[in-house]
Amino acid sequence: MNTTAQVFPTFEQVVQGLAGQIGQLRAMAPQPTLSETVRVRRAIDTLIAETNADEAVWLESCIRCGQCTTACHYFQATGETKYAPMRKMNLYRKVYQREIGPFRWWYQLVTREVKLKDLEELQELVYDSCSECGRCTMVCPMGIDTASLVHHQRSALVAAELVPPELAALRMEQKHAGTVFGASSDSLRKMVDTIREKAGVIIPLDKERAEIMVLSSAVDLVGNGNGLLATAKVMNHLGVDWTICSDGFESANFGLLSGDMSLWKKQVNPIVAAAQRIGAKLLVIAECGHAYPALRWNPMLKSGDLPFEMMYMSEYLGRQAKAGRLKLSPLAGKITYHDPCKTGRRGGAFDEPRAVLKAMDADFVEMPANKEYNWCCGGGAGIFLLERATRLREESFKIKMEQVNITGAETVVVSCASCRLNFEAGRVKNHWDKKVESLVELVAEHLIDEAPAIPLKPLHAIPINEDQGAIA
Ligand code: SF4
Ligand code: SF4
Repeated sequence: MNTTAQVFPTFEQVVQGLAGQIGQLRAMAPQPTLSETVRVRRAIDTLIAETNADEAVWLESCIRCGQCTTACHYFQATGETKYAPMRKMNLYRKVYQREIGPFRWWYQLVTREVKLKDLEELQELVYDSCSECGRCTMVCPMGIDTASLVHHQRSALVAAELVPPELAALRMEQKHAGTVFGASSDSLRKMVDTIREKAGVIIPLDKERAEIMVLSSAVDLVGNGNGLLATAKVMNHLGVDWTICSDGFESANFGLLSGDMSLWKKQVNPIVAAAQRIGAKLLVIAECGHAYPALRWNPMLKSGDLPFEMMYMSEYLGRQAKAGRLKLSPLAGKITYHDPCKTGRRGGAFDEPRAVLKAMDADFVEMPANKEYNWCCGGGAGIFLLERATRLREESFKIKMEQVNITGAETVVVSCASCRLNFEAGRVKNHWDKKVESLVELVAEHLIDEAPAIPLKPLHAIPINEDQGAIA
């Protein structure tokens, strides 16, 4: 029962299964209901509402130096100038200049008004060809945060009913059912039972009080049970007081991905409420890159005021490794690590995943561009789900492959389900001779002194005392 891969399908099979579900999303997307005039006005009003001092300065200060152009993987992979980061803010700048800038009277005379067609053309620039990775900001001499400007434009396209169909379908599902891909609290309970029955690993679901609350994700529940199994093995190994709350477990946030601020907040509220109810001191966010900004950098959530800390899974593992609390067997072969943009460049979690690999005595080698300058894999911010973005995603992934190939590593470790989906799809597509591993699953496979199997009972059906979370 030590090998997670024996219990559930391989990640390659997970990707295949998910591809089938993604293929059905286009047909499920809602159709526009508003008039053209209203849709355009709503987009403009959204941009006006989201423009504060930072945005105004960024929109005013681009000196057209072009430094950001080659920093963007979508431009680098295609050579198409329309994908240059500075071009992705053109429409936003136009709205700013015409509506709220100091010379708006002038711009209203010399520029034409925004039309629906302009917004339709914007869709590809802010959804398909920007993973909001922030790499362009690293090189911009003016410090312009293009990713943030892109995100505001996603919000404008939500208002204009112009979300790409796959994201629109998942946004609607999460809005109405609170979940995606049908991964409900029942799915969680079933997965908890399956893990207990097949792997003998207990997940202390719905404890009334716990120090640590762990999040899961739809990918864990509808396909990759290995992720949740690995998480449970690690938490039990550490002997900590932990739980997962069935009324606040979902990391995935299609409010953030689509640009729907109200859904973003709505999806976060039950998580925060559950953590407060159980008295959690720490919220551990599953390996889901966009869940990190959805929670930790949530502008609608004053995280400093919350009675608990939030940590990404790689950060939590890294701190445990640094404290000598993770007993891990050595990892064979040369490996490298891919920093997810949201937790790495935008979140600063660089040392922690490396500390975990060090605890496995790994023969670790960095990619030529690493940490802050790491190349995005090309599939983040929902792009993996967009059929129309397949060419862009696949071409930009070749940059990532080259980076990994230079290291000579046999294995690339990732700590984000979205990156991992893209890596796995790219590996299969290119017959790439590398292994792609999740950090938490790798840790679970290398634990020494793993917890013993537990007698089988439906855990969620019996009262759980706090000691059951501490299986050492
Ligand atoms: S944030 Fe990343 S994907 Fe978006 S324009 Fe900048 S470099 Fe390109
Ligand atoms: S690097 Fe900054 S200032 Fe230069 S073109 Fe890009 S966004 Fe504009």
